[in-house]
Amino acid sequence: MPIQIQRNPTRGVRVGSILIGGGAPIAVQSMCATKTQDVEATVAQAEDLRLAGAAVVRVAVDSQKDAEALAEIRKRTSANLVVDLQENYRIITKVAPHVDKVRYNPGHLYHLEKTKPVADKVKFIAETAGENGCALRMGVNCGSVDPDYKAKFPGDGIDAMVRCALDHCEILDRLGFTRYVVSLKDSDPRKVIEGNRRFAARRPDVPLHLGVTEAGLPPDGIIKTRVAFEQLISSGIGDTIRVSLTLPNPRKAEEVRAGHAILEDIYGGRFRSVPDLGSGLNIISCPSCSRVENEAFVELAEKVREITAYAREHDITIAVMGCRVNGPGETDDADLGLWCGASSVNLKCKDRLIGAFPYAAVLGRLEEELNRLIAAANAASGAGGAEGGEKVPAGRKN
Ligand code: SF4
Repeated sequence: MPIQIQRNPTRGVRVGSILIGGGAPIAVQSMCATKTQDVEATVAQAEDLRLAGAAVVRVAVDSQKDAEALAEIRKRTSANLVVDLQENYRIITKVAPHVDKVRYNPGHLYHLEKTKPVADKVKFIAETAGENGCALRMGVNCGSVDPDYKAKFPGDGIDAMVRCALDHCEILDRLGFTRYVVSLKDSDPRKVIEGNRRFAARRPDVPLHLGVTEAGLPPDGIIKTRVAFEQLISSGIGDTIRVSLTLPNPRKAEEVRAGHAILEDIYGGRFRSVPDLGSGLNIISCPSCSRVENEAFVELAEKVREITAYAREHDITIAVMGCRVNGPGETDDADLGLWCGASSVNLKCKDRLIGAFPYAAVLGRLEEELNRLIAAANAASGAGGAEGGEKVPAGRKN
Protein backbone atom coordinates (compact mmCIF):
# COMPACT_ATOMS: atom_id res chain seq x y z
CA MET A 1 0.00 0.00 0.00
CA PRO A 2 1.61 3.34 -1.06
CA ILE A 3 2.64 5.45 1.96
CA GLN A 4 2.55 9.19 2.55
CA ILE A 5 5.95 10.50 3.62
CA GLN A 6 6.22 13.80 5.51
CA ARG A 7 9.60 15.00 4.22
CA ASN A 8 11.79 17.25 6.38
CA PRO A 9 11.40 20.91 5.36
CA THR A 10 14.81 21.09 3.72
CA ARG A 11 15.77 24.02 1.55
CA GLY A 12 16.11 23.45 -2.18
CA VAL A 13 19.67 23.34 -3.54
CA ARG A 14 20.10 23.77 -7.29
CA VAL A 15 22.51 21.25 -8.86
CA GLY A 16 22.59 21.83 -12.60
CA SER A 17 19.17 20.92 -14.02
CA ILE A 18 17.77 19.51 -10.76
CA LEU A 19 16.86 20.59 -7.25
CA ILE A 20 17.98 18.60 -4.22
CA GLY A 21 15.70 19.14 -1.23
CA GLY A 22 12.89 21.66 -1.01
CA GLY A 23 10.39 18.80 -1.53
CA ALA A 24 11.88 17.87 -4.92
CA PRO A 25 11.83 14.14 -5.82
CA ILE A 26 14.66 12.25 -4.16
CA ALA A 27 17.52 12.30 -6.68
CA VAL A 28 19.48 9.11 -7.41
CA GLN A 29 23.22 9.55 -7.81
CA SER A 30 26.19 7.45 -8.82
CA MET A 31 29.93 7.80 -9.41
CA CYS A 32 32.24 6.92 -12.30
CA ALA A 33 34.84 4.27 -11.51
CA THR A 34 36.78 4.80 -14.72
CA LYS A 35 40.12 6.63 -14.72
CA THR A 36 39.15 10.30 -15.02
CA GLN A 37 42.02 10.92 -17.44
CA ASP A 38 40.49 8.28 -19.72
CA VAL A 39 38.01 10.79 -21.15
CA GLU A 40 36.41 8.32 -23.59
CA ALA A 41 35.68 5.75 -20.88
CA THR A 42 34.51 8.34 -18.34
CA VAL A 43 32.17 10.09 -20.81
CA ALA A 44 30.75 6.69 -21.80
CA GLN A 45 30.20 5.71 -18.16
CA ALA A 46 28.72 9.10 -17.22
CA GLU A 47 26.26 8.81 -20.11
CA ASP A 48 25.48 5.21 -19.15
CA LEU A 49 24.67 6.29 -15.60
CA ARG A 50 22.65 9.30 -16.78
CA LEU A 51 20.58 7.20 -19.17
CA ALA A 52 19.99 4.63 -16.41
CA GLY A 53 18.39 7.42 -14.35
CA ALA A 54 21.26 9.05 -12.43
CA ALA A 55 20.22 12.65 -11.77
CA VAL A 56 23.78 13.42 -10.66
CA VAL A 57 27.10 11.77 -11.63
CA ARG A 58 30.29 12.11 -9.58
CA VAL A 59 33.85 12.05 -10.86
CA ALA A 60 37.04 11.85 -8.79
CA VAL A 61 39.71 14.51 -9.37
CA ASP A 62 43.07 14.55 -7.61
CA SER A 63 45.49 16.11 -10.10
CA GLN A 64 45.93 18.86 -12.66
CA LYS A 65 45.70 16.22 -15.39
CA ASP A 66 42.39 14.95 -13.93
CA ALA A 67 41.11 18.54 -13.93
CA GLU A 68 42.05 19.00 -17.61
CA ALA A 69 40.26 15.75 -18.48
CA LEU A 70 37.21 16.94 -16.54
CA ALA A 71 36.96 20.04 -18.74
CA GLU A 72 36.73 17.75 -21.77
CA ILE A 73 34.26 15.39 -20.04
CA ARG A 74 32.03 18.37 -19.24
CA LYS A 75 31.77 19.25 -22.93
CA ARG A 76 30.70 15.73 -23.85
CA THR A 77 28.01 14.79 -21.34
CA SER A 78 24.80 16.54 -20.25
CA ALA A 79 24.87 14.74 -16.89
CA ASN A 80 24.77 16.97 -13.79
CA LEU A 81 28.37 16.59 -12.67
CA VAL A 82 29.85 16.55 -9.21
CA VAL A 83 33.53 16.40 -8.48
CA ASP A 84 34.86 14.53 -5.45
CA LEU A 85 37.70 16.30 -3.65
CA GLN A 86 39.77 14.45 -1.08
CA GLU A 87 43.22 15.57 0.10
CA ASN A 88 43.91 18.42 -2.35
CA TYR A 89 41.06 20.89 -1.67
CA ARG A 90 42.81 23.76 -3.54
CA ILE A 91 42.22 22.03 -6.85
CA ILE A 92 38.65 23.31 -6.58
CA THR A 93 39.70 26.40 -8.58
CA LYS A 94 40.51 24.11 -11.51
CA VAL A 95 37.36 22.00 -11.37
CA ALA A 96 34.52 24.27 -10.18
CA PRO A 97 34.11 25.91 -13.63
CA HIS A 98 33.24 22.50 -15.11
CA VAL A 99 30.80 21.01 -12.61
CA ASP A 100 27.44 21.65 -10.88
CA LYS A 101 28.51 20.61 -7.40
CA VAL A 102 31.71 19.95 -5.47
CA ARG A 103 32.00 17.42 -2.67
CA TYR A 104 34.60 18.08 0.00
CA ASN A 105 35.49 15.72 2.83
CA PRO A 106 36.10 17.62 6.10
CA GLY A 107 38.16 14.64 7.25
CA HIS A 108 40.79 15.23 4.57
CA LEU A 109 41.18 19.02 4.88
CA TYR A 110 43.98 18.63 7.44
CA HIS A 111 46.32 17.03 4.92
CA LEU A 112 47.19 20.34 3.18
CA GLU A 113 48.48 23.52 4.86
CA LYS A 114 48.40 21.91 8.31
CA THR A 115 48.70 25.24 10.19
CA LYS A 116 45.83 26.92 8.32
CA PRO A 117 42.51 27.00 10.25
CA VAL A 118 39.84 24.68 8.81
CA ALA A 119 37.41 27.61 8.65
CA ASP A 120 39.75 29.43 6.23
CA LYS A 121 39.94 26.36 3.99
CA VAL A 122 36.13 26.08 4.00
CA LYS A 123 35.90 29.80 3.20
CA PHE A 124 38.18 29.24 0.17
CA ILE A 125 36.05 26.29 -0.96
CA ALA A 126 32.74 28.15 -0.50
CA GLU A 127 33.92 31.32 -2.21
CA THR A 128 35.29 29.37 -5.18
CA ALA A 129 32.06 27.38 -5.47
CA GLY A 130 30.00 30.58 -5.22
CA GLU A 131 32.07 32.30 -7.92
CA ASN A 132 31.40 29.36 -10.25
CA GLY A 133 27.71 28.86 -9.49
CA CYS A 134 28.42 25.49 -7.87
CA ALA A 135 26.63 23.81 -5.00
CA LEU A 136 28.61 22.00 -2.31
CA ARG A 137 28.30 18.67 -0.52
CA MET A 138 30.05 18.42 2.78
CA GLY A 139 30.51 14.69 3.03
CA VAL A 140 31.64 13.11 6.32
CA ASN A 141 32.75 9.48 6.10
CA CYS A 142 33.26 7.01 8.97
CA GLY A 143 36.75 6.01 7.81
CA SER A 144 38.10 9.52 7.36
CA VAL A 145 36.65 11.57 10.23
CA ASP A 146 38.81 14.58 11.15
CA PRO A 147 41.26 13.27 13.81
CA ASP A 148 40.42 16.21 16.11
CA TYR A 149 36.78 15.13 16.24
CA LYS A 150 37.73 11.48 16.73
CA ALA A 151 39.80 12.55 19.73
CA LYS A 152 37.11 14.88 21.10
CA PHE A 153 34.27 12.37 20.58
CA PRO A 154 35.68 8.86 21.14
CA GLY A 155 33.34 5.90 21.02
CA ASP A 156 31.26 4.56 18.10
CA GLY A 157 32.20 7.42 15.81
CA ILE A 158 28.64 8.69 15.30
CA ASP A 159 29.05 11.69 17.61
CA ALA A 160 32.32 12.64 15.91
CA MET A 161 30.65 12.54 12.48
CA VAL A 162 27.55 14.45 13.56
CA ARG A 163 29.49 17.09 15.47
CA CYS A 164 31.89 17.61 12.56
CA ALA A 165 28.98 18.01 10.14
CA LEU A 166 27.15 20.47 12.40
CA ASP A 167 30.28 22.58 12.85
CA HIS A 168 30.93 22.76 9.11
CA CYS A 169 27.29 23.81 8.57
CA GLU A 170 27.88 26.65 11.04
CA ILE A 171 31.03 27.72 9.18
CA LEU A 172 29.18 27.75 5.83
CA ASP A 173 26.16 29.55 7.31
CA ARG A 174 28.40 32.19 8.86
CA LEU A 175 29.88 32.72 5.38
CA GLY A 176 26.35 33.17 4.02
CA PHE A 177 26.80 30.11 1.78
CA THR A 178 23.60 28.06 1.94
CA ARG A 179 23.79 26.12 -1.33
CA TYR A 180 25.04 22.98 0.35
CA VAL A 181 24.01 19.42 1.03
CA VAL A 182 25.38 17.19 3.80
CA SER A 183 26.16 13.47 4.00
CA LEU A 184 27.09 11.27 6.95
CA LYS A 185 28.18 7.86 5.73
CA ASP A 186 29.31 4.68 7.43
CA SER A 187 29.65 1.09 6.26
CA ASP A 188 27.29 0.02 9.07
CA PRO A 189 23.67 0.83 8.11
CA ARG A 190 22.72 1.17 11.80
CA LYS A 191 25.26 3.99 12.21
CA VAL A 192 24.02 5.64 9.02
CA ILE A 193 20.47 5.58 10.42
CA GLU A 194 21.54 6.92 13.83
CA GLY A 195 23.92 9.56 12.46
CA ASN A 196 21.45 11.00 9.96
CA ARG A 197 18.64 10.96 12.50
CA ARG A 198 20.74 12.89 15.03
CA PHE A 199 21.88 15.39 12.40
CA ALA A 200 18.37 15.88 10.93
CA ALA A 201 16.98 16.46 14.41
CA ARG A 202 19.37 19.43 14.77
CA ARG A 203 19.26 20.66 11.14
CA PRO A 204 15.99 19.63 9.49
CA ASP A 205 16.56 22.49 7.00
CA VAL A 206 19.71 21.00 5.46
CA PRO A 207 19.25 18.60 2.51
CA LEU A 208 20.78 15.18 3.15
CA HIS A 209 22.60 12.87 0.74
CA LEU A 210 22.11 9.31 2.05
CA GLY A 211 24.44 6.38 1.48
CA VAL A 212 25.98 3.34 3.14
CA THR A 213 29.63 3.67 2.22
CA GLU A 214 31.51 0.56 1.06
CA ALA A 215 28.22 -1.34 1.12
CA GLY A 216 29.99 -3.97 -0.96
CA LEU A 217 29.02 -6.54 -3.57
CA PRO A 218 25.41 -7.06 -4.68
CA PRO A 219 23.07 -8.38 -3.34
CA ASP A 220 24.49 -7.83 0.20
CA GLY A 221 25.37 -4.22 -0.61
CA ILE A 222 21.83 -3.52 -1.77
CA ILE A 223 20.31 -5.15 1.33
CA LYS A 224 22.49 -3.10 3.71
CA THR A 225 21.64 0.10 1.83
CA ARG A 226 17.94 -0.69 1.69
CA VAL A 227 17.83 -1.17 5.48
CA ALA A 228 19.16 2.34 6.06
CA PHE A 229 17.10 4.01 3.34
CA GLU A 230 13.84 2.34 4.43
CA GLN A 231 14.28 3.64 8.00
CA LEU A 232 15.39 7.17 7.06
CA ILE A 233 13.32 7.99 3.99
CA SER A 234 10.11 6.63 5.54
CA SER A 235 10.65 9.12 8.38
CA GLY A 236 11.15 12.03 5.95
CA ILE A 237 14.97 12.14 6.08
CA GLY A 238 16.93 12.18 2.81
CA ASP A 239 16.85 14.25 -0.38
CA THR A 240 19.30 12.39 -2.59
CA ILE A 241 20.71 8.87 -2.46
CA ARG A 242 23.65 6.81 -3.71
CA VAL A 243 23.87 3.02 -3.58
CA SER A 244 27.62 2.29 -3.39
CA LEU A 245 28.20 -1.12 -4.95
CA THR A 246 31.42 -2.95 -5.87
CA LEU A 247 30.80 -3.71 -9.54
CA PRO A 248 32.87 -4.15 -12.67
CA ASN A 249 32.69 -0.99 -14.79
CA PRO A 250 30.29 -2.33 -17.45
CA ARG A 251 27.72 -3.04 -14.67
CA LYS A 252 28.09 0.32 -12.80
CA ALA A 253 24.56 1.44 -13.82
CA GLU A 254 23.16 -1.29 -11.56
CA GLU A 255 23.78 1.16 -8.70
CA VAL A 256 21.29 3.58 -10.27
CA ARG A 257 18.68 0.94 -10.96
CA ALA A 258 19.00 -0.35 -7.39
CA GLY A 259 18.46 3.19 -6.08
CA HIS A 260 15.29 3.68 -8.10
CA ALA A 261 13.99 0.24 -7.11
CA ILE A 262 14.50 0.97 -3.40
CA LEU A 263 12.69 4.34 -3.71
CA GLU A 264 9.79 2.78 -5.62
CA ASP A 265 9.43 0.12 -2.94
CA ILE A 266 9.56 2.62 -0.07
CA TYR A 267 6.94 4.90 -1.64
CA GLY A 268 4.92 1.80 -2.58
CA GLY A 269 4.96 0.77 1.08
CA ARG A 270 6.88 -2.38 0.20
CA PHE A 271 9.30 -2.68 3.08
CA ARG A 272 11.51 -5.75 3.00
CA SER A 273 12.03 -7.54 6.31
CA VAL A 274 14.94 -6.13 8.20
CA PRO A 275 17.59 -8.85 8.04
CA ASP A 276 19.61 -9.53 11.21
CA LEU A 277 22.71 -7.49 10.53
CA GLY A 278 24.10 -8.46 13.88
CA SER A 279 25.72 -11.75 13.23
CA GLY A 280 27.82 -13.53 10.71
CA LEU A 281 30.56 -12.67 8.29
CA ASN A 282 30.30 -9.09 7.04
CA ILE A 283 32.24 -8.11 3.92
CA ILE A 284 32.47 -4.40 3.18
CA SER A 285 34.08 -3.15 -0.01
CA CYS A 286 34.26 0.24 -1.70
CA PRO A 287 32.44 0.99 -4.98
CA SER A 288 35.74 1.87 -6.66
CA CYS A 289 36.45 5.12 -8.47
CA SER A 290 39.18 6.78 -10.53
CA ARG A 291 41.58 6.41 -7.58
CA VAL A 292 41.52 2.60 -7.70
CA GLU A 293 45.15 1.51 -7.88
CA ASN A 294 44.63 -1.75 -9.82
CA GLU A 295 41.73 -2.86 -12.03
CA ALA A 296 41.93 -6.28 -10.31
CA PHE A 297 40.25 -4.72 -7.24
CA VAL A 298 36.65 -5.74 -8.05
CA GLU A 299 37.68 -9.31 -8.86
CA LEU A 300 39.66 -9.41 -5.61
CA ALA A 301 36.57 -8.35 -3.64
CA GLU A 302 34.51 -11.07 -5.35
CA LYS A 303 37.19 -13.67 -4.59
CA VAL A 304 37.35 -12.59 -0.93
CA ARG A 305 33.61 -13.28 -0.66
CA GLU A 306 34.05 -16.62 -2.39
CA ILE A 307 36.96 -18.00 -0.36
CA THR A 308 35.59 -16.81 3.01
CA ALA A 309 32.10 -18.27 2.59
CA TYR A 310 33.04 -21.16 4.90
CA ALA A 311 33.26 -18.63 7.73
CA ARG A 312 29.79 -17.13 7.26
CA GLU A 313 28.78 -18.12 10.82
CA HIS A 314 31.52 -16.08 12.41
CA ASP A 315 31.04 -12.48 13.56
CA ILE A 316 33.96 -11.14 11.55
CA THR A 317 34.17 -8.07 9.33
CA ILE A 318 36.48 -8.09 6.31
CA ALA A 319 37.03 -4.78 4.46
CA VAL A 320 38.34 -4.56 0.88
CA MET A 321 39.31 -1.05 -0.33
CA GLY A 322 40.50 0.06 -3.75
CA CYS A 323 43.22 2.57 -2.93
CA ARG A 324 45.54 4.28 -0.44
CA VAL A 325 43.38 7.45 -0.16
CA ASN A 326 40.61 5.93 1.92
CA GLY A 327 41.85 2.32 2.20
CA PRO A 328 44.08 2.67 5.28
CA GLY A 329 41.46 4.58 7.34
CA GLU A 330 38.37 2.72 6.19
CA THR A 331 39.90 -0.66 7.12
CA ASP A 332 40.82 0.32 10.70
CA ASP A 333 37.50 -0.85 12.15
CA ALA A 334 37.44 -4.16 10.29
CA ASP A 335 38.78 -7.40 11.82
CA LEU A 336 40.70 -8.00 8.61
CA GLY A 337 41.35 -5.29 6.04
CA LEU A 338 42.78 -5.26 2.53
CA TRP A 339 43.63 -2.08 0.65
CA CYS A 340 44.99 -2.15 -2.83
CA GLY A 341 48.26 -0.79 -4.17
CA ALA A 342 49.37 -0.83 -7.79
CA SER A 343 51.15 -4.21 -7.61
CA SER A 344 50.46 -5.46 -4.08
CA VAL A 345 47.68 -5.58 -1.51
CA ASN A 346 48.14 -4.44 2.08
CA LEU A 347 46.66 -6.84 4.62
CA LYS A 348 45.74 -5.60 8.10
CA CYS A 349 44.28 -7.10 11.24
CA LYS A 350 42.32 -4.19 12.74
CA ASP A 351 44.84 -1.28 12.60
CA ARG A 352 47.91 -3.59 12.61
CA LEU A 353 49.58 -3.97 9.18
CA ILE A 354 50.45 -7.62 8.54
CA GLY A 355 52.22 -6.88 5.27
CA ALA A 356 51.94 -6.17 1.57
CA PHE A 357 51.35 -9.20 -0.65
CA PRO A 358 51.23 -9.75 -4.41
CA TYR A 359 47.66 -9.99 -5.72
CA ALA A 360 48.21 -13.69 -6.46
CA ALA A 361 49.29 -14.47 -2.88
CA VAL A 362 47.15 -12.28 -0.65
CA LEU A 363 44.07 -14.53 -0.57
CA GLY A 364 46.03 -17.44 0.88
CA ARG A 365 47.41 -15.18 3.59
CA LEU A 366 43.96 -13.73 4.26
CA GLU A 367 42.63 -17.24 4.81
CA GLU A 368 45.41 -18.01 7.30
CA GLU A 369 44.59 -14.86 9.27
CA LEU A 370 40.87 -15.63 9.12
CA ASN A 371 41.45 -19.13 10.50
CA ARG A 372 43.58 -17.63 13.26
CA LEU A 373 40.70 -15.34 14.22
CA ILE A 374 38.21 -18.22 14.12
CA ALA A 375 40.47 -20.42 16.26
CA ALA A 376 40.90 -17.59 18.77
CA ALA A 377 37.12 -16.96 18.85
CA ASN A 378 36.43 -20.68 19.29
CA ALA A 379 39.03 -20.96 22.05
CA ALA A 380 37.58 -17.89 23.78
CA SER A 381 34.04 -19.32 23.61
CA GLY A 382 35.29 -22.79 24.56
CA ALA A 383 33.80 -24.14 21.27
CA GLY A 384 35.59 -27.04 19.53
CA GLY A 385 36.13 -26.84 15.82
CA ALA A 386 39.08 -25.13 14.25
CA GLU A 387 42.42 -26.20 15.77
CA GLY A 388 45.49 -24.27 14.81
CA GLY A 389 43.76 -22.47 11.93
CA GLU A 390 42.19 -25.55 10.39
CA LYS A 391 39.02 -24.44 8.64
CA VAL A 392 35.60 -25.96 9.40
CA PRO A 393 33.32 -25.72 6.33
CA ALA A 394 29.86 -24.37 7.23
CA GLY A 395 27.27 -27.11 7.83
CA ARG A 396 29.70 -29.99 8.36
CA LYS A 397 30.63 -30.45 12.06
CA ASN A 398 33.54 -32.51 13.32
S1 SF4 B 1 38.59 3.45 -1.33
FE1 SF4 B 1 39.68 4.54 -2.95
S2 SF4 B 1 39.12 3.46 -4.83
FE2 SF4 B 1 37.61 2.94 -3.30
S3 SF4 B 1 35.98 4.40 -3.64
FE3 SF4 B 1 37.30 5.16 -2.01
S4 SF4 B 1 38.72 6.54 -3.03
FE4 SF4 B 1 37.80 5.23 -4.61
